[in-house]
Amino acid sequence: MPPSPPSPAPTHPELHRDAYIDGAWVAGSRRFPVHDPFDGAVIAEVTAADEAMVDAAVAAAARAFAAWRHQPAPARGRLLGQLAARMLADEDRLAALCVRENGKPTREAVGEVRYAASFLTWFAGEAERIYGETIPSAHPGQRITVIREPVGPCALITPWNFPYAMLTRKLGPALAAGCTVIAKPAVQTPLCALALAELAHQVGIPAGVFNVIATDEAARIGGRLLAAPQIRKISFTGSTGVGKKILRDAADDLKRVSLELGGNAPFIVLADADLDAAAAGAMIAKFRNTGQSCVAANRFIVEEPALAGFTARFIERISALTVGRGSDPGVDLGPLIDDAAVAKVRHLVADALDRGARLLHGAPPDGKTRLVAPVVLAGITPEMAIWREEIFGPVVAIRAAAGEADALAQANDTDAGLVAYVYTRDGSRRVRFAEALEAGMVGVDEGLVSTAQAPFGGVKHSGLGREGSRHGLDDYTSLKYIATRISG
Ligand code: NAD
Repeated sequence: MPPSPPSPAPTHPELHRDAYIDGAWVAGSRRFPVHDPFDGAVIAEVTAADEAMVDAAVAAAARAFAAWRHQPAPARGRLLGQLAARMLADEDRLAALCVRENGKPTREAVGEVRYAASFLTWFAGEAERIYGETIPSAHPGQRITVIREPVGPCALITPWNFPYAMLTRKLGPALAAGCTVIAKPAVQTPLCALALAELAHQVGIPAGVFNVIATDEAARIGGRLLAAPQIRKISFTGSTGVGKKILRDAADDLKRVSLELGGNAPFIVLADADLDAAAAGAMIAKFRNTGQSCVAANRFIVEEPALAGFTARFIERISALTVGRGSDPGVDLGPLIDDAAVAKVRHLVADALDRGARLLHGAPPDGKTRLVAPVVLAGITPEMAIWREEIFGPVVAIRAAAGEADALAQANDTDAGLVAYVYTRDGSRRVRFAEALEAGMVGVDEGLVSTAQAPFGGVKHSGLGREGSRHGLDDYTSLKYIATRISG
């Protein structure tokens, strides 16, 4: 196999604002504004896809599928590897764009670009390992072979909180498997997806293989995309309510669906835990992306003997956090994504205080700005909304647990099941908790579980399917079993 060409030098092309369909930039008759979350300033006016553009993208993906699926898998992988290299070569520009439309601090945006590229690199490798199998038959003269085939053109629906990574986590396995895609990014963050399309074009991903359409009418335009009969698979990352609707709608056409939905992660600190390590892990689990992460620690459950020590250590670290514009040096927490996000956090804090929670640090957000400083609440009870819903902001809710059984019962008392964190030094407790927690992922003395090498995904109402790892390919391939008679 020829070696991959060296990474190209970074370029600084202008912002792309139009749809990317069949290898070309397509302007529409209507545009919608993309705002800087910090001050609401309009960054760009982006083409709003209409029905004809959806249909054109679907037709392009269906046409391109015929050839792309038959490209040798290593060739598809090489293109993914080149796209990853291109992202890394351009990481400063990509990160700056992410800071502008998402608001996250520059350091985190650079981290996201690298994390996003890591999915492309991983699936570039996995493309070469889409193995089939042979199975001994029970019948004389028969051979059983199994091959993996791409499912077909896919619709990829992504949220705003990790606008590159949530897309590459789908794009990587889809393209590696031989599927073609139409990506529909969130209304708040279409520019990152369009920037990725531009890089895909530069590295020579063929026309129609990767299309991007943006819209401010998710239900109508997104709905048309998802309903198109040529679309054979839907991969959705976003809120649980929308995910359930997509699954119901997909039933009519029996499309494959994978869903990465909301979480309500417990962060358990047991009495024997290393409290400094727990506080350090809690900072990552809670405050990454200003708390706007599906794997954010939502419910802190602390065994009573550790309560004072953990809370004091955690608040000491929280006190050092700086809130501000994501592009300013030294900022740890950027603005929340929009006014609705601020209103939700305000409601959750007010509801908890009304119902008797104690304010240990910070002040309830006043709603005058999208910058929300950290708040720590204790004395949380299960009927408070903050315990039941995703906070999606820098608010810590702490509840005491009377012992191991109580901590576990509290942790599992939720419909969500994405991730759970537990801190303990006891080897047996580690195993007991890891096995008993109802979650797709468990961090044991670990506050960050996301990585391209591991299967990311939830149980219960947090979703279906896994992204990343070798299992990430499963959702984009179908098994075909071939029975061959070789003798009478
Ligand atoms: P959202 O559900 O509002 O939107 C997600 C995407 O779905 C967007 O692109 C949106 O335009 C689109 N959409 C909305 N309604 C649609 C419809 N009727 N038909 C088709 N598309 C539609 O979620 P959000 O606010 O953008 O993201 C935050 C949510 O995402 C949180 O709940 C978070 O936990 C979840 N999330 C989950 C993961 C995970 O991997 N499990 C990762 C990141 C975010």
